[in-house]
Amino acid sequence: MATGVSLKKYKASHVIGRSIVNVFETLESEVRSYSRSWPVVFDRAVGSWLYGEDGRAYLDFFAGAGALNYGHNNPVLKRALLDYIERDGITHGLDMHTTAKRDFLESVQEVLLRPRGLDYRLMFPGPGGVNTVEAALKLARKVTGRESVINFTNAFHGMTLGALSVTGNSMKRGGAGIPLVHATPMPYDNYFDGQTPDFLFFEKLLEDSGSGLNEPAAVIVETVQGEGGINAARIEWLQGLSELCKQHGILLIVDDVQMGCGRTGPFFSFEPAGIQPDIVCLSKSIGGYGLPLALTLFKPELDVWEPGEHNGTFRGINPAFVAAGAALREYWTDDTLEKATLAKGEQIARTLDDLVSEFPSAELTAKGRGLARGLELASGELADRVAKAAFERGLLMETSGPEGQVVKMMPALTISEDEVEQGMTILVEAVRTVLR
Ligand SMILES: *Cc1c(COP(=O)(O)O)cnc(C)c1O
Repeated sequence: MATGVSLKKYKASHVIGRSIVNVFETLESEVRSYSRSWPVVFDRAVGSWLYGEDGRAYLDFFAGAGALNYGHNNPVLKRALLDYIERDGITHGLDMHTTAKRDFLESVQEVLLRPRGLDYRLMFPGPGGVNTVEAALKLARKVTGRESVINFTNAFHGMTLGALSVTGNSMKRGGAGIPLVHATPMPYDNYFDGQTPDFLFFEKLLEDSGSGLNEPAAVIVETVQGEGGINAARIEWLQGLSELCKQHGILLIVDDVQMGCGRTGPFFSFEPAGIQPDIVCLSKSIGGYGLPLALTLFKPELDVWEPGEHNGTFRGINPAFVAAGAALREYWTDDTLEKATLAKGEQIARTLDDLVSEFPSAELTAKGRGLARGLELASGELADRVAKAAFERGLLMETSGPEGQVVKMMPALTISEDEVEQGMTILVEAVRTVLR
């Protein structure tokens, strides 16, 4: 801040009523997006609540797009972090061995992998979701010596070129500015409204030497498509996909960046299918406290990397290891959180089902699994209006889907039943306001 400007004047120049002027609009790029839906200057956050600098409270059904599964400033994780920082624990460590990283790795082994009978090597790519996706794609290509990857309609895997090439959304793809190649989209579960047997097209292309489909290195899939509109693949579909990959020697990559870390109930979203993907991508909530951290897990025999062949400066944000380890030990040594997530997911689903019956002609669809829930409206415009009406009543929800036609409910997993009820009461009011 320029010296000589009082804090009060500085703030006043930034907020006029609820319309924000100055640095956000004059300095920050047009690329900003969430801030346009929620024109508030946020200041504090605790649990499932964010507070504007004017003190107004907002109930959070967004949870950092899935990066805040344990809520804002979770007290258990905060304590661990404060202790670590206070004692001058390492903050930045590239991929050096540190006590914080060792504790985290041991927690992954003891809390996540061993109890589930999973045998994975673990690498730290850069800290974003997109970094683990890029690492996964690179590794699959290196292992198989093949170029092409199968993705699914309405998939979202991130915004760098490799990840965009396996992403569906045409607006996001358009940003690449060069051809996005070496990926072939296949229909996701229920793409044809259940009218075409599941893998008819994909299987036929794989088996027909005249199909024009190059032998794929990998299939990359989300078990529930978050950005794509809360499309939950059926468990049988995931099992079928895993089987198909096995039959054809194709590596299966599950992108669990958004749906992992308990979002759908179990820690890994693929657990109910009883499948073991070859490669698993984690980010968003793995850092526990909203700190940047990503992991790529893969079967040990796929670990063909040369030292330093995939690299990055921010692969060792040690405070993130501390919070991540604390989250695993606090929430994942028994099934309390998993059960609570499923119960609160059902609580939301019941209200969504009621809304669907209340407005039979509005073409509403209730979607999702666990605490990843969506209400699909007839258009993106209607969904926007619902999200806006909810925001005006103090509830933060984003929209997703190719036309933005799905309002998305993704509260922290640690939200209370009362808070879920408060949020759903607002949602019902918002839907009634818009549809009546
Ligand atoms: C958010 C997301 C990503 C990208 O993560 P970033 O941290 O935004 O790079 C990748 N895959 C899925 C499924 C996601 O939801």
